[in-house]
Amino acid sequence: MKVGFIGVGNMGGPMCRNIVKRSNHQVTVFDLNKAAVKTCTDLGATAAASIAEATRGADVVMTSLPFPKDVEAVTLGDGGILASIGKGQTYIDLSTNAPSMVKKIGAAMAAKGIAMLDAPVSGGTAGAEAATIAIMVGGDKKVFDDALPVLQSFSANVIHMGELGTGTVAKLVNNMLAFCNAAAAAEGLMLGVTAGLDPRKLIQVISNSSGNSATFKPLSDKALSGDFTATFALDLAYKDLHLALELGDELGVPLQMGASTHNLQRLARGMGLGKSDSSSVLRVYETLLKRTVKP
Ligand code: NAD
Repeated sequence: MKVGFIGVGNMGGPMCRNIVKRSNHQVTVFDLNKAAVKTCTDLGATAAASIAEATRGADVVMTSLPFPKDVEAVTLGDGGILASIGKGQTYIDLSTNAPSMVKKIGAAMAAKGIAMLDAPVSGGTAGAEAATIAIMVGGDKKVFDDALPVLQSFSANVIHMGELGTGTVAKLVNNMLAFCNAAAAAEGLMLGVTAGLDPRKLIQVISNSSGNSATFKPLSDKALSGDFTATFALDLAYKDLHLALELGDELGVPLQMGASTHNLQRLARGMGLGKSDSSSVLRVYETLLKRTVKP
């Protein structure tokens, strides 16, 4: 198959490179960041000069972009995917998008006879590198089945959730849980360390006890090193949780843990940590208590 890949940052980069490394699909890449494109062309992908060039002739066009407004601009904006995509081609959005934006783009694509799948991913940059990420997909089942060979070239866990938009809802639920777990882990580590425990021993115990979670290891690794360089930016996590809370509002579902965690993220962003890793919510506690988990 021919694949057009737009947005090769922290997540899109390794996903795109895995398609190149692990399959015979021909990949054409576009990103505003030339250095990011080079990490893919070095392995055999072809660089496109524009969104149109990455779109034309591809069987599947994929995006992995930061915010819903970016996905909107790249799909529906001037010179966007919609302007150059044609019948028989499929558009797949791998970003964590807003359900309402997924539906808006899906409707615009459908009006031109183009099928769309929303296919957000989970597993972080490590999962993207190892091709172990989960992909939760919404959209027509036949379109999903046809796209599977491409999706499976960079993921061992591809799940069809239902109609367009359902992949995104699953992703927002997952990320709300992940961020609540990270916030709880930050509190727990500060409590233990303030009580005088050795953080390494505490982390070892929790890693093998019922307080563990998928976010505990990445958060505690960053806590011990004191390096909060983003593999998943706090600004993006804040966006995801905002979208989950918006969905809760719309559906009348109380999200107390989610709302409290969102406020914690807001504090961290207020401290200027938006571009740091999402685990830097711990920095709020460390700063307030004038103490770090790192010994
Ligand atoms: P990122 O900022 O590292 O990468 C985004 C890339 O998109 C950048 O290379 C940027 O140059 C490019 N880009 C932005 N606007 C563009 C445009 N108009 N045209 C072409 N390229 C453009 O972000 P990321 O961490 O890779 O996240 C991408 C998406 O995946 C987000 O929706 C995020 O929420 C989601 N996600 C991220 C992670 C993670 O751990 N980082 C995990 C799961 C899902």
